[in-house]
Amino acid sequence: MKILKNHSLRPYNTFGVEARAAHFAEVFDAKSLVEVLEAKIAPLFVLGGGSNILLTRNLPGIVIHNAIRGIEVEQETDEQVVVAAGGGTNWHDLVDWSLQQGLGGIENLSLIPGTVGAAPIQNIGAYGAELKDVFEKLEAYSIEDGGRVLFDAKACQFGYRDSFFKREGRGRFFITRVWLRLSKHPRLNLGYGNVQETLREMGIVTPSVCDVSKAIIRIRQSKLPNPAQLGNAGSFFKNPTIDQAHFQLLKKSWPDLPGYPQDEGATLVKVPAGWLIEKAGWKGRRIGDAGCHHQQALVLVNYGKATGQDILHLASLIKEDVENKFGIRLEEEVNIW
Ligand code: FAD
Ligand code: NAP
Repeated sequence: MKILKNHSLRPYNTFGVEARAAHFAEVFDAKSLVEVLEAKIAPLFVLGGGSNILLTRNLPGIVIHNAIRGIEVEQETDEQVVVAAGGGTNWHDLVDWSLQQGLGGIENLSLIPGTVGAAPIQNIGAYGAELKDVFEKLEAYSIEDGGRVLFDAKACQFGYRDSFFKREGRGRFFITRVWLRLSKHPRLNLGYGNVQETLREMGIVTPSVCDVSKAIIRIRQSKLPNPAQLGNAGSFFKNPTIDQAHFQLLKKSWPDLPGYPQDEGATLVKVPAGWLIEKAGWKGRRIGDAGCHHQQALVLVNYGKATGQDILHLASLIKEDVENKFGIRLEEEVNIW
């Protein structure tokens, strides 16, 4: 097992910012992972595709890049397939694989960057679907003692862009394998936003899972910056949930404020952070090479030479402004390292 020293992380994060790791190792299987864990270099950072992190400093200790790949069918019935994928598998490659098999369940999660092993961390979600809808179990190794642990959905405590691994389990486990239950007779989930409208524009009347994936890719490519061309980590902040009284108060000044009820009595309402940031005047603005994207205000971007600190500074100005205007404190979705 090779452990590199003073290794540049620029190629490993989609913001494309520079930072160095004191030690860096890439693991291709559980055995080599256990070897690195036994070296007891601390602190330890688990790195997947680097599409949900902001590097704000050089990292002491060790960064371990997950390259444990592979997709296998574990169980199959007339109705369903349970598939196991290595944590370092590219997420969209798994989506593509499922589409080729005609399996449904993750088509709405098409084109989300990053790895399968990171997907449970924030219970990735998009267009009305979440990982938890198809999740079966995962295998992880304890960073503390190298022990192998299995987590079922209950143990993962999935929430909106949230799980046990973002709270009590933060930084304590390395996810090596994830099992998903996919359907041979999928029920399509077309209710979100302009999915149906896009399918119509594509001339599709009776969509297949592949068609839904194509429509979602089309929508995503039309509004989200491609990290290969413009550094970013997707939504920088979570969409906040506020109580109904606060929502009604804001509606008086901002009648067009969108809101999505989060419970049956609508006591809690989710509001789009992108809308708040846009109304606070940040959409398309830039400070040096750190900017707020001109089409999707929730996405902060690196125009080239921004440092992690530059992006963090911009984020803090946006946060302050949104709080002053709307009384809502935004919370980062991106993991700040
Ligand atoms: P990384 O950025 O490498 O890591 C993220 C966090 O997870 C870190 O804290 C890391 O330590 C931890 N981690 C990573 N792998 C493991 C592991 N194997 N074991 C334990 N901990 C681990 N997210 C959505 O939910 N929905 C979207 O629609 C979406 N769209 C996006 C669009 C763009 C253009 C971009 C750039 C990002 C988007 N994201 C979206 C965010 C991101 O792609 C996901 O959160 C993704 O799951 C991150 O995967 P990663 O492998 O890049 O994780
Ligand atoms: P959008 O469709 O413009 O919607 C903006 C916001 O409104 C999102 O927060 C979304 O919540 C919410 N929303 C819209 N329709 C909804 C509905 N029918 N029910 C409940 N909530 C609704 O958002 P977008 O930026 O173009 O993104 C599209 C999808 O991709 C969203 O699901 C978004 O979360 C996901 N995405 C995520 C990231 C990331 O990095 N996390 C990046 C890009 C896109 P939800 O977020 O709960 O859907």
